[in-house]
Amino acid sequence: MLSRLRTDFQLTIITLFGGCAVFGILPFAIYRCIAGNVAAGTVDAFLVLSISAAVVYAWRTGDTKRSGIYLSVVNTGGAMLVAEILGVPGLSWMYTSLLANFFVVGRGLATILSAASLAILALHGKAFETTPQMVSFLATAGLVSLFAFIFAYRTETQRLQLEVLVTRDPLTGFQNRRAMEQELQMAIEVHKRTSISFGIIMMDLDHFKRVNDQYGHDAGDRVLVAFADLIRKFTRRVDRAFRFGGEEFILLLPSVDITGLRTAAANLRGNIAAELMGPGGPVTISLGAALLNGDEDWQSWMKRADLAMYRAKEGGRDRAVIDGFEVEGEA
Ligand code: GH3
Ligand code: MG
Ligand code: MG
Repeated sequence: MLSRLRTDFQLTIITLFGGCAVFGILPFAIYRCIAGNVAAGTVDAFLVLSISAAVVYAWRTGDTKRSGIYLSVVNTGGAMLVAEILGVPGLSWMYTSLLANFFVVGRGLATILSAASLAILALHGKAFETTPQMVSFLATAGLVSLFAFIFAYRTETQRLQLEVLVTRDPLTGFQNRRAMEQELQMAIEVHKRTSISFGIIMMDLDHFKRVNDQYGHDAGDRVLVAFADLIRKFTRRVDRAFRFGGEEFILLLPSVDITGLRTAAANLRGNIAAELMGPGGPVTISLGAALLNGDEDWQSWMKRADLAMYRAKEGGRDRAVIDGFEVEGEA
């Protein structure tokens, strides 16, 4: 539980937020019922229950988005109500509410909630005693929202940049092994639910060590970049390429049957052999392909592609081997 709170910022905020709201409202629910105001007590009790349900939902499903939207709407409505009922002393709750929304939901929705709640309070006007008081409140509340917006924007941009850094290989621009494991896992789940078929092709550059040894590491890097460009050129938009290791790559192909996979592997082999130029001449690749089986995990799927690739190497390189079939390509 603690580890989830440590790694899932959104869940932490929702829990904190829900906890504060529940413990803030619960005494009022009890007090009002005891004092005979059953209607207000029931509303409070409903709020406590529904906020708790939203927090439990976030914990159970991991869907912090929906519960976040619910909590921020309830939060804004609650703060506005308090401002209307208590007047100036209640208005200060609007600041916490405005700020919290930018943590709990996206900045678009948080901005809409800020603008709408401030506009309603201003137009209704009952929460304020004088016009200067209203102007001063609107200016400060507007600034709080603006700063929260800028902060949320910055955090989101940095998160996206970090995600790219963590999942992409800088040399080829392909996603790395870490991202690949997630995508393969996802493909398996989609396959189970929809029976869409998936294939992978493992590719390894032939005698690549020679390129490095004879022409240097930089020349080797340029060949890898040229190879990546050719892969982009000769694959479909839906196919995903990953840099699995040094000069080993994986291609994930959705919606292919065995014939499609064979054709894709054979075409890739031919096109790379024809177009990939190293400093000392053409560079070829060996390919091993495997279609996803119903009940396997991604490790065994990849293992079959890997074994097929080694058969291609053993068979003389510049070949494509499909798991379960004889050697394809050319001698
Ligand atoms: P094979 O046909 O059996 O695959 O022979 P190979 O020489 O390609 O195979 P091996 O796995 O022995 O060598 C792979 C080489 O790839 C070794 C390493 O120097 C080179 N390599 C790995 N990553 C990079 C990289 O990022 N840049 C460069 N320039 N070379 C790399
Ligand atoms: Mg190699
Ligand atoms: Mg290798």
